[in-house]
Parts: sequence; C-alpha cells; structure tokens
Amino acid sequence: MERGLERGSVVFVGQIDVFVKKVISSLIERRPVKDIIEWGVMYSLWPVHLMTSCCGVELAAGYAPRYDIERYGSLPFVSPRQTNLIIIEGTLTRKMARVARITWEQMADPKFVIAMGACAIDGGLFWNSFNIVRANEVLPVDVYIPGCPPRPEALARAILMLQDKIRSQGVKREDIELLERYVGKRS
Ligand code: SF4
Repeated sequence: MERGLERGSVVFVGQIDVFVKKVISSLIERRPVKDIIEWGVMYSLWPVHLMTSCCGVELAAGYAPRYDIERYGSLPFVSPRQTNLIIIEGTLTRKMARVARITWEQMADPKFVIAMGACAIDGGLFWNSFNIVRANEVLPVDVYIPGCPPRPEALARAILMLQDKIRSQGVKREDIELLERYVGKRS
C-alpha cells in the first residue's frame, strides 16, 4: 500500500537543475554567503604578470620580501585565466594596449584594473606621443597610482584601496550571474 506524505515533507516539482539554480541564486544574494564571496574576492587579488614598462621594476620590489604585498592577499601569477587583477605598469604603447585588452578578456570574473604610474594615467613623459594609449581608454580602471615611478608602498596602498572598494561596493551583479551560470552547468 502506498504511504501518504507526512506533514512537513518537501516535494520537488519540475526540473531539479532549475530548482538548484533558483536556490543558489537566492543564497548568493543573501548574507552571510554574499559577505563570504566578497571576503574571498578581496583577499584573492591575483595580478597577471604583464610588464608594460619601467614601473614594473617597482612592482617587482613591492612583491619581493622587503615590502611583501602578498601579506595583503595579493599574489602575482603568470596565467591570465587564473588571475583577476591587471596592473598596467606605466607606459602603454598601441601594441601593448591590444595585448593588455586581450589578456584582460581572458581573466576570471570579477576582475579589476590598477593603472600604475604617470604614463598609465595620462601618458607621463610621453604624453604627446603618437604611440601612447591611456590605460582607461582600453580598460575599466579601478585605482590610479600617481608617480614616476610610484614607490612599492604606493602599490601596497592601491591594493588596500581596491579591497576597500570591493568591501564598500560589493561584487557586481553580472559577476554573480556568471557564477550562477557556472554552477548551473555543473548541477
Ligand atoms: S611613470 Fe615613469 S617609471 Fe613609470 S613607465 Fe612612465 S617613465 Fe617609466
């Protein structure tokens, strides 16, 4: 004899993957899950190793043991697909601007951009050169670091400022949708 449903039972109707996506979508929007995602993004800022000009020397010093920016949760990595931060290290020529944009498009979402040095901000020494591209002409810059070159302390400060920005603005809705799509495919 078939047994009836007990009081309080949960009945699943329809497709399980649609149901799972809806549950994930509502969970991601709520605290503390949202806080955990933002905390994870803040302390997992991995800059791609793409040196565009001489400001890169200061970046190398910043991540070396003396300044040790890694202690803030930022670790340079070589593969664009495993990174979520691009630091434009000074001058961006037309040729390198294209490379920077292609690299940025391969990076994982949510992703961020820091423009380091006078050259990345407005061309610096080469402001009137035919071959210079400003970082914000090809990428959505989150933090600017003035100086020629900026000191490693300034770079460390920029990483902290970016973390503050992520904490105050949160992760963008479209990035959460990407996460949902990814989880939906796996469910
Ligand atoms: S800002 Fe100064 S150090 Fe940096 S790339 Fe330009 S000229 Fe070089």
